[in-house]
Amino acid sequence: MTRAKTILSGMRPTGKLHLGHLVGALENWVALQGEYANYHLIADYHALTTDLDSSGIEGNSFDMVIDWVAAGIDPVRSPIFRQSQVKEHTELHLLFSMLITAARLERNPAVKDQVRDLHIENITYGHLGYPVLQAADILLYKGELVPVGEDQVPHVEIAREIARRFNAQYGTVFPEPEPKLTRFARLPGLDGVDRKMSKSAGNSILLSDQPDQIQAKLRTAVTDPQKVRRNDPGRPEICLVFKYHQRFSPGEVSEIESGCRSGALGCVECKKRIAARLTDVLAPFREKRAELEANPGIIRDILADGEQRARARARMTMGEVHSAMKLG
Ligand code: ATP
Ligand code: MG
Repeated sequence: MTRAKTILSGMRPTGKLHLGHLVGALENWVALQGEYANYHLIADYHALTTDLDSSGIEGNSFDMVIDWVAAGIDPVRSPIFRQSQVKEHTELHLLFSMLITAARLERNPAVKDQVRDLHIENITYGHLGYPVLQAADILLYKGELVPVGEDQVPHVEIAREIARRFNAQYGTVFPEPEPKLTRFARLPGLDGVDRKMSKSAGNSILLSDQPDQIQAKLRTAVTDPQKVRRNDPGRPEICLVFKYHQRFSPGEVSEIESGCRSGALGCVECKKRIAARLTDVLAPFREKRAELEANPGIIRDILADGEQRARARARMTMGEVHSAMKLG
């Protein structure tokens, strides 16, 4: 039997998960779980790049485990662990930081976007090194496939460059990881079709939102500004609510599209329909979530087990790194 390929993918514990995470990454993690050996990392060090206040990290990490498991990640097959609990991440990060120039990191479009969106005046050394730490996260487990949203593709490219550079310098230890995108790799937020749904932008529908919250949030969703009255013709291609229908109401898309274009379907009605749809789709998730929230001991056990398995894997790779580099 051939060895199952390894997946490594993670998220920052900066808040509860939203629909963008689900359709951009998490669904792929769950779908590929049988075929690949998955490792799922809670990037708690990475959370510090944009917020030095660490007081929310632990709670957010627990919340994220709940979200992942409720969405279908099986922690027995797929270890879940915190980056900060596997010390090898910091060591590999340091070694990798010698293999990439500061100029290359300054050109990274993902960090440029973050600096713009968060109005960061002077970027820290650690934030600039975000993709270097991410390369260490992936390659410590010899991750070959990285299921992520579109915004993360430039980071995976940097991980590939670092792997190539290491292998050329010291001999082949690492695979060159590849990003894996879903059909909805950039789900827009509620504030416009051009903006990505994001935890920090406050434009998201959370997987844990209750039906009334889903409805209230969708009422505020930005639609086609030219469709003012119910019977005005609309342009679904520029409407984020239509994007949500494409993903969550596949059987009704053509009817919604023609209704919007002809003016027969008004925005209020269209939003009500997607709110009802999302309420249904997320119902099993909310149930499973409530069950896990009532049993915090399960979450602690999942992390303790995942961290132990991740450490063992990480140590093996660092052994190979040390011998390739003739360190110690
Ligand atoms: P933050 O605002 O704190 O950066 P975020 O919402 O961007 O949070 P991340 O933790 O940066 O979330 O992303 C986790 C994963 O989810 C990444 O693979 C990312 O590409 C994916 N992702 C996040 N938002 C979306 C989205 N709107 N559409 C598709 N994928 C997304
Ligand atoms: Mg992000």
